[in-house]
Amino acid sequence: MKRTVTAAALGLILLSSSPTSLVPSLNSPVEIKAIPPTFITLDQIPECIPTAPFPQVNPLPYFIDAHHIQFSCSVYDKDNVAWTMLIFYEMWAEEFGDPEESLKCALGKMTIVWGKDLKTVNNVYDMDGNFLETATVAGLMQNDTTVWVWAESEYISSTSFVHELTHIALHHTCGDADADHEGEKFPCWEEKHSMFVDRVNLILNDEYGL
Ligand SMILES: [Zn+2]
Repeated sequence: MKRTVTAAALGLILLSSSPTSLVPSLNSPVEIKAIPPTFITLDQIPECIPTAPFPQVNPLPYFIDAHHIQFSCSVYDKDNVAWTMLIFYEMWAEEFGDPEESLKCALGKMTIVWGKDLKTVNNVYDMDGNFLETATVAGLMQNDTTVWVWAESEYISSTSFVHELTHIALHHTCGDADADHEGEKFPCWEEKHSMFVDRVNLILNDEYGL
């Protein structure tokens, strides 16, 4: 919804500017981004209510039993969250497969907790598998259908959301969420998964402005 409004406002500015400024020069190509769709659902999905108390638990479209816990209505638009999950799933299924549809099923009942501040936690691993007794983290997989994600950025692709979804995906398709990432202690997460996370985030940002 917000993006549609932004696009409309931009259209207005272009229309009111002088005709010469509408001609794009060869040196400054016009960048066109797709707008993530608004999900049209049979049942009306309740919206985040800015005047109601926070945190608010609100359902997501498309993923029937999924919801997110918001500390502000602008973090993040439910359609953009669901779109991110859909892009993630399509790319995952194509690259790594989901033969039993166990990942699809898990995504359908996800809880995403958006966090206002970083968390300090004990006993975690960095990307190379180094054990850290205490660390400040920007995301956590809390159980097999729950992730906590620090939501400081305006862009979902700048958060650890896709990274945490990858832990969820590995848990359901490989048998272990792999806490130590590319380290050797736990199986599943390999370098190709780190590259996958980067690729999904790049597409989310480049193609959809998320
Ligand atoms: Zn991780």
